[in-house]
Amino acid sequence: MPYPFKLPELGYAYTALEPHIDAQTMEIHYSKHHAAYVNNLNAALEKHAAFHKKEVEDLLSSLSDLPTEVQTPVRNNGGGHLNHSLFWRWIAPGGSKEPKGRLADAIKTGFGSLDTFKEQFTQAGTSRFGSGWAWLALDRSGKLKIYSTANQDPPVMEGNKPVLGLDVWEHAYYLKYQNRRADYIKAWWNVVNWDAAAQSYEKAMMR
Ligand code: MN
Repeated sequence: MPYPFKLPELGYAYTALEPHIDAQTMEIHYSKHHAAYVNNLNAALEKHAAFHKKEVEDLLSSLSDLPTEVQTPVRNNGGGHLNHSLFWRWIAPGGSKEPKGRLADAIKTGFGSLDTFKEQFTQAGTSRFGSGWAWLALDRSGKLKIYSTANQDPPVMEGNKPVLGLDVWEHAYYLKYQNRRADYIKAWWNVVNWDAAAQSYEKAMMR
C-alpha cells in the first residue's frame, strides 16, 4: 500500500500476548511508536508526489533515488513502518509453535537444528548494541542468514528478504523487562507465529 501510508490493523487485542508481552507495551508500541513512524513517513513524502505510488519496500530498496533531504526520514520512518507491519504478524497469537514445511527444512539445513537457530538468533538480538533488530532473512543467493541491523534499517535495504524479525529497541520490552533484554527474547519465542514466518519465507522465495 503506497502513500498515504496507514497504520495496519493489529488484528488482535493488546492483551493477546500476555504474559510474555504485556498489554501496555503492546498498546504504546503499536498506537504510539508505529503510528509515529507512519505519520512521519507521510510528512516526509508529502511534498514529493513523484514517489507517492511507490510501496515502502521500493522506497527503501532504492533510497538514493529520493531527494537527499528525505532519504534519512524515509530510511528511519519507512523502515519503522515496514518492520513493525511485519512484526505484528510474526508475533500474532495462534499459529504454529514451531516451523513446519519448507521453512523448517531450510532452518535445519542452514543451522543444523531449530535449537541452534534459536541460539544464534538470540545472540544476534542480545548483542545488538543500542536499538535495532535481529533478523532471519534470505540473502541474494537464496541462503538463510541471521544478523542484526541498527535502528530501523530493514533487510530490504541490503537486498535481503525478511523471514522473521525481532525488535530489540527498549520500547519493545522496557516496561515489563527493564534492562533484561535476554529475558524478553526468551519470552518472545513463546509468541512467535511460525505460520506467519513461513508465509514470509514463501514470499521471499518467490522473488
Ligand atoms: Mn518497535
